[in-house]
Amino acid sequence: MSDVRIDDLPVRAELRGKSPYGAPQLDVPVRLNTNENPYPLPEPLVERIAERVREAARNLNRYPDRDAVELRTQLAKYLTDTSGHEVGLANVWAANGSNEVIQQLLQTFGGPGRTAIGFEPSYSMHGLISRGTGTGWISGPRGDDFTIDVEVAAKAIAEHRPDVVFITTPNNPTGNAVPRETVLALYEAAQAAKPSMVVVDEAYIEFSHGDSLLPLLEGRPNLVVSRTMSKAFGAAGLRLGYLAAHPAVVDAVQLVRLPYHLSAVTQATALAALEHTDVLLKYVEQLKSERDRLVAELRAAGYEVVESDANFVQFGRFEDSHTAWQKILDRGVLVRDNGIPGWLRVSAGTPDENDAFLDAVRELKKEQSA
Ligand SMILES: *Cc1c(COP(=O)(O)O)cnc(C)c1O
Repeated sequence: MSDVRIDDLPVRAELRGKSPYGAPQLDVPVRLNTNENPYPLPEPLVERIAERVREAARNLNRYPDRDAVELRTQLAKYLTDTSGHEVGLANVWAANGSNEVIQQLLQTFGGPGRTAIGFEPSYSMHGLISRGTGTGWISGPRGDDFTIDVEVAAKAIAEHRPDVVFITTPNNPTGNAVPRETVLALYEAAQAAKPSMVVVDEAYIEFSHGDSLLPLLEGRPNLVVSRTMSKAFGAAGLRLGYLAAHPAVVDAVQLVRLPYHLSAVTQATALAALEHTDVLLKYVEQLKSERDRLVAELRAAGYEVVESDANFVQFGRFEDSHTAWQKILDRGVLVRDNGIPGWLRVSAGTPDENDAFLDAVRELKKEQSA
């Protein structure tokens, strides 16, 4: 029995020899490896969630609102309030994490015989979900400084004519934002080549120094902005992601969504969180200043750092980043090795967690120069 492996099963050809997404979940004192918000939800919000879930529980004999109308209305209001760009119920779709949003987009606009492109290094799930939906994956280029060169990227789009283009801004794992002009130029390139859907993944936008690209949706029906409550809202455990786009895109993804995909408990919990947006966004301000402190202190300690608009920082350079990762772990701090040679990524934690991390990397520097 135990000698049967995945590849011994009749799995689809494109899944053979592949590894699942697997950030280590290790039990160490300081975990700064998955870009979670380090602050637990405030107690009044916990109470409100309990209340709303209790209400929802009374109706669990029924299927949930299939169209999640109340939730999408509140998400639209949050987007309008924070971006100044008018977003309505018809523009918003929600699912179990933005990973499911991305999966639904790929099931709708990708699939067998079609391709998607991302500019790497970037969020690895874009490629993995592409594979899972039978969509061919094209790894597009980024410069040595991790920015997207418009001309090189537009050329890749013209050459490959992908059906879906992913642009992650702020980018994960590098932290840098993609300029608005670059996104506009790539949208034009994608329309000229195919036309194709352009998905702007704004999972970290609340932490950015700059503005959301939501206003670009005006007059661009092939543009999608995806968002999540996993990072800024401190609710990674909730599993709630959403998108904003032209109403036709929202209609299209309903062709592939499973009926009643968003449980009544999830909808109730997300609605409670949205009632407490103000408090949650205050934590975001705190994390932004901690992020800026990490950037400054890492530089002061002699590290190279990529400019960050997210709640994490990519730092280097290491001759052997995996050994450096292990040495930081030996000091009780878990950071992320994304397999980018020479670099590691640290998520902004609480001030105490960040102090522990900074102590560890300062010691590491001393050890290296000794
Ligand atoms: C964390 C992250 C997500 C969020 O995924 P969820 O499924 O909403 O938790 C999406 N995109 C990027 C780039 C991320 O880093």
